[in-house]
Amino acid sequence: MGSSMVVPPLLRAVIMGPPGSGKGTVSARIIKHFGVKHLSSGDLLRDNMQKKTEVGILAKSYIDQGQLIPDHIMTQLMLNEIKRLDQHNWLLDGFPRTVAQAEALDKECHIDTVIDLDVPFETIKCRLTARWIHPASGRVYNLEFSPPKVKGIDDITGEPLVQRDDDKPETVSKRLQAYDAQTKPVLEYYRKKGLLKSFSGTETNKIWPHIYAFLQTKLPDVSQKDAAKPR
Ligand code: AMP
Repeated sequence: MGSSMVVPPLLRAVIMGPPGSGKGTVSARIIKHFGVKHLSSGDLLRDNMQKKTEVGILAKSYIDQGQLIPDHIMTQLMLNEIKRLDQHNWLLDGFPRTVAQAEALDKECHIDTVIDLDVPFETIKCRLTARWIHPASGRVYNLEFSPPKVKGIDDITGEPLVQRDDDKPETVSKRLQAYDAQTKPVLEYYRKKGLLKSFSGTETNKIWPHIYAFLQTKLPDVSQKDAAKPR
């Protein structure tokens, strides 16, 4: 690589939206098209829970109750991971979720843009409580889009389906309330800094082309095929 090559500035982005707003789907598309590194606080916590690390065991007790992990634990965990991403474009997903986390992040690095998925709570409640799983196989059903042949029963084994604790109506309501109380101030925080880009809608596929067009003003599309079709 010649020393005269212009290196484009690194993108430091955050994606926000209530749980169940399609953050995971949109993030996967952003990674595919723009080649950014993705750091999801939920994935990181689940990884720690699976490995039964100290943080993982602690996190489980909060997550099972639909509560947020305390700021100091979360911030330390995420800032450590962010340091490892060093010279890459990155997208944070699920962090920061509180103003204290946003302030701690600001001290460590400059954020360029915050993508906000603005999806109505009613749409989310329907989406999340529709998901049922067969625990032994991990098969996932959705009462709206891919229901089991017999209500409450796994198609293959005939065993009962269950709802993840996270997907139970009372937990979903608590998570949305926690989002309302703690995360909306974060949106406000970024709005005041002029960093917030909100995308409103009830369907991910309709929101996505707008996000794609926005990010194309910042990064080239690195996906080979389908470049013309932002799917
Ligand atoms: P998610 O998959 O992003 O919905 O995260 C699952 C759960 O992990 C959340 O409901 C919270 O309990 C916890 N969690 C994830 N990210 C954070 C964060 N930044 N701060 C506090 N708790 C978090």
